[in-house]
Amino acid sequence: MQTSILNDKKAPYCPGCGHTVITHTIDKALAALEINPLDVVAVSDIGCCGLVDGLLNCHTVHGLHGRSVALATGIAYGLNHPGKKVLVIQGDGGATIGLQHLMEAARQNLDLTLIVQNNLLYGMTGGQISGLSPMQFKGERMPEVQDVPGFDICELAHRAGASLAARTFVGDSNFNELFRRAFQTEGFSLLEIVEPCPSHGIKKVLDLHRTADYPAVELRNERPPHRTAPRETTSLLDSLPLIRARFSSNLRQRLEIVIAGSAGEGVQSCGDLLAYAGATSGLYTTKKGAYPVTVGSGFSIAEVILSRDRICYTGIAAPGVMIIVSQDGYDAVKSRLGKDTYLLMDASLAPPPGHCVISGDFRKIGGKKGAALAAVAFWIGQTDLISIKALEAAAGMHRHGDKLVANIESASRISKREIMLEG
Ligand code: SF4
Repeated sequence: MQTSILNDKKAPYCPGCGHTVITHTIDKALAALEINPLDVVAVSDIGCCGLVDGLLNCHTVHGLHGRSVALATGIAYGLNHPGKKVLVIQGDGGATIGLQHLMEAARQNLDLTLIVQNNLLYGMTGGQISGLSPMQFKGERMPEVQDVPGFDICELAHRAGASLAARTFVGDSNFNELFRRAFQTEGFSLLEIVEPCPSHGIKKVLDLHRTADYPAVELRNERPPHRTAPRETTSLLDSLPLIRARFSSNLRQRLEIVIAGSAGEGVQSCGDLLAYAGATSGLYTTKKGAYPVTVGSGFSIAEVILSRDRICYTGIAAPGVMIIVSQDGYDAVKSRLGKDTYLLMDASLAPPPGHCVISGDFRKIGGKKGAALAAVAFWIGQTDLISIKALEAAAGMHRHGDKLVANIESASRISKREIMLEG
């Protein structure tokens, strides 16, 4: 069993930052309790202390600022397992932003440990005061002074019903022991560690004690942890029909394809059809879509991976094939164009200088909404990596199947000589 939760990467924190000490103390406490790193799910969010993910050997989840307790709540409910440890790492800024999530988790006494790394300010953004900054606190470069009392996060969590809410200062005599007690607590345990941020706030622990007038506390509620009753559930995947391979494929290696066009012009449907055609050709496939929140304007990108082997990583950094049918799409993906990328573009677009491009009138062939599919059909006709019949069969299941199949048929019959305008 691997005993350390830390990998061998160097901690990214500034010299003298309390986060370094806390990270190593978490590691030591888990090791002392013989908790297997693979039984730990660490959840963090934005802030310097959220950089911890990269140092960890356990499962990690990183969320939006202040939302790590909300994410951990879902994980704790889903895991529902006394042998697993849900560990949340949050700064005083994140705890302030996500205070309601924190209170709710304490009220329900969910089985997780929250470490609040309170350096009295927002370190990553330059030292602004947080909801936990003490009265009259002012960092070197802070424009404002805290002129109202900070939240007493331990008292709040305790009153809400947490099994344990405790506060200590970095390096205090009970420091290491308190981590162990928090990890051993069943139910919600909150450990607030008051620590220095030498770059924007208090530099020395001694000064920290003078400035932060919080008392060290250890507050307990004798309550059982909230656990959900186990339920028999079926996987969502179980309800999906099995896709059977009916066609063959000449593909030998993993192929990453990016289809880029404008929102509302059938780019996502085109990606779906290509992925489905890949699956019916006996390949592993993934498809991901990206488009702005406006949905009906701007770019639309479909990323499809076809592979003979299982696809463990679904990202595409340097696509093997790019099919681009509008300027919006081109602008969104041009930075990912590699020198060996097979590039197929609509003739209305100016090709990138120095890159070999096959350019055709796909918008005329397929219409605005069928340009991406026409280009994909042409590409399949040229490469024969999967059968055009597989794409037609996928399109035939669509509600506009007849139209899509007709588009595929005409585009796939075009020869390269007919279509190539520039190369
Ligand atoms: S800015 Fe402050 S909190 Fe962030 S790493 Fe540096 S010392 Fe630590």
